Amino acid sequence: MRVKLVCVAGGRPNFPKLAALFRALGTRPERFETCFVHTGQHSDPRMSKLFCEELGLPAPSVDLGVGSATHAVQVAEVMRRFEAVLQSEQPQGVVVAGDLNSTLACALATSKFFRDEPFLFQGMPRRRPVLAHLEAGLRSFDDDMPEEINRRVTDCLSDLLFVSEPSGETNLRREGVAPERHHLVGNVMIDTLLHLKERASRSEVLARLGLEPRSYALLTLHRPNNVDDERQLRTLLDTLDEIAIELPVVFPVHPRTRARLEAARIRPRSDRFLLTEPLGYLDFVKLEASAKVVLTDSGGVQDETTVLGVPCITLRNNTERPVTVTEGTNVLGHTTREGILGAYAALRSEPRSGRVPRSWDGNAAERVARVLEQVFS
Ligand code: UDP
Repeated sequence: MRVKLVCVAGGRPNFPKLAALFRALGTRPERFETCFVHTGQHSDPRMSKLFCEELGLPAPSVDLGVGSATHAVQVAEVMRRFEAVLQSEQPQGVVVAGDLNSTLACALATSKFFRDEPFLFQGMPRRRPVLAHLEAGLRSFDDDMPEEINRRVTDCLSDLLFVSEPSGETNLRREGVAPERHHLVGNVMIDTLLHLKERASRSEVLARLGLEPRSYALLTLHRPNNVDDERQLRTLLDTLDEIAIELPVVFPVHPRTRARLEAARIRPRSDRFLLTEPLGYLDFVKLEASAKVVLTDSGGVQDETTVLGVPCITLRNNTERPVTVTEGTNVLGHTTREGILGAYAALRSEPRSGRVPRSWDGNAAERVARVLEQVFS
């Protein structure tokens, strides 16, 4: 049987994960047929179209074009449009990744959809497409993060949970997920990082921005808890201004953050702040790899800096990726001036080199593909 898999991406953090999966499935054309659906949750071309091209992703077969909206409207709109895709494609499987609203919406739509014809899964006939979640099991235990709700609900609905780090397995076990449903495969986002690292090293972004390696900090900021609250955003930028006195801060600004900064008329005071548009993947990886320190509230960037061996200060009170702290280069800087400057001072006096977590070896998607082959045989 040739299995039809619909693979869903909603926005920037999903693309590197799917790129790894497409590479692995692409070596098995006789087993899998893929349909790539882009929900359009991030519609900015610098965070979707151009980004996909650099990652070598095929052009999406379907673009749902949902755009920005409130959580409820966005989830509802993705569900409505994705159900029509399920109806026309009649897949045996759907793959979702990470923790976006699109991840949750497509998981929900899939779990209530019945194909016209039954198919065999683990030797049993069924009509509901098999739902697979890449990067399952991560938990921040912070329900004020919309992403945490998306992770929990998606995991609860998924048939196959592909886990990137040991904490994910522990969390799923504690939540009572049957062991045969989850698989510790490693980190598919890191597959793509390792695949493109050499190409990224040839990026000329440092020269373009007038930077020397290890002489700047790289900043990304876009979590709603950090940027939607004006006071919090001001505290963060004021604190980072203090760091900029010592070390220039390169800040590729996420569209959501740019809108908030403009609405609140907040600007970094220091002229050693270098604001840019969101960067392409290769330029961004080059900047990450060459930074003295990375300050971020991104999930993926915590994982990437651990593999690149670059110190990372996470501008949050928690992380759903604890292995980056226990084994990698990540420290929680929290979201206060004292926390961030304290973490910065500690890193300056004793930089962490960390080690790469087991099975973050560039072969996670290959392990995913093998599990898929097995369960659909
Ligand atoms: N990234 C990028 N350009 C940027 C900022 C981030 O290519 O200007 C990449 C980064 O290398 C990582 C991914 O985007 O692969 C992380 O996405 P994001 O921080 O938007 O989402 P999160 O991981 O927090 O869900």
